[in-house]
Amino acid sequence: MGIKVEHLNYIYGQGTAFEQHALKDIDLEIKDGEFVGLIGHTGSGKSTLIQHLNGLIRGTSGAIYFNGKNIYEAGYNMQALRSHVGLVFQYPEHQLFEVDVFSDVCFGPKNQKLSKEEIESRSREALTMVGLDESYYKRSPFDLSGGQKRRVAIAGVLAMRPEVLILDEPTAGLDPKGRDEILDQIERLHKEQKMTIILVSHSMEDIARYVDRILVMNHGEKVYDDTPKEVFMHYKELEAIGLAAPQITYVVHTLKERGIPIDTNITTIEEARDEILRLLSK
Ligand code: ADP
Ligand code: MG
Repeated sequence: MGIKVEHLNYIYGQGTAFEQHALKDIDLEIKDGEFVGLIGHTGSGKSTLIQHLNGLIRGTSGAIYFNGKNIYEAGYNMQALRSHVGLVFQYPEHQLFEVDVFSDVCFGPKNQKLSKEEIESRSREALTMVGLDESYYKRSPFDLSGGQKRRVAIAGVLAMRPEVLILDEPTAGLDPKGRDEILDQIERLHKEQKMTIILVSHSMEDIARYVDRILVMNHGEKVYDDTPKEVFMHYKELEAIGLAAPQITYVVHTLKERGIPIDTNITTIEEARDEILRLLSK
């Protein structure tokens, strides 16, 4: 079923001199098994929006449905919602604190009051999902690389077996190798576990090749909600709101403007390579 958001508004500090209308009349739907990118420049409302999706922040007005049920209805089990919709915060490695990797991942399922066997088997399963084998279990999380630490943090959320996984800027501060490591891992979760994924980023380049759909935020509003190809067609408007389309979009449009009959629907380097080879072989 998935998540449905209707006319959601959120105002920080309502009634004070510091009111901040962070979300403005947001409507959106995320279906089971989708891989969605949530994009917008800093301060556009991305983090605020995702914290609504697992009930950490309550909307000022509007409604949110998870699997068809309004989460704002009296008696709704918010704690259960938080385990169904797993949220990996930005810089999650700041929240690693146990002595070893395995204990850290066990922390979440431990709070779900499961048996010791169940806690351990879920934690093992989660570590396998992020590609960390037993040789990591007894290592201190603090001795790992940036990308590895982040994978431990993601495993901590996966161990609670969420249906939806939301990651807030999971590549922030990582080098290109760490970034690819994380994104490839997330893509694998989507493909192999059929997990619904919401990936927050301020970089189109990062997510263009991974997601099925992109939601673009600007000043608290949702301004685009479409496939990457459709969204990148608006590359000039995106630039005006501080977001660049992937570089290859510019290359393709420049070639087109110079009279080369290239398909401007291209959004990845691989597609551009194939299209250029096709044109050259003509
Ligand atoms: P993003 O994640 O896209 O960078 P945020 O959701 O963090 O954006 O912020 C959206 C807006 O809400 C910004 O104007 C920001 O300054 C404001 N904001 C975020 N957190 C708070 C807070 N705790 N108190 C007041 N204003 C906040
Ligand atoms: Mg943010």
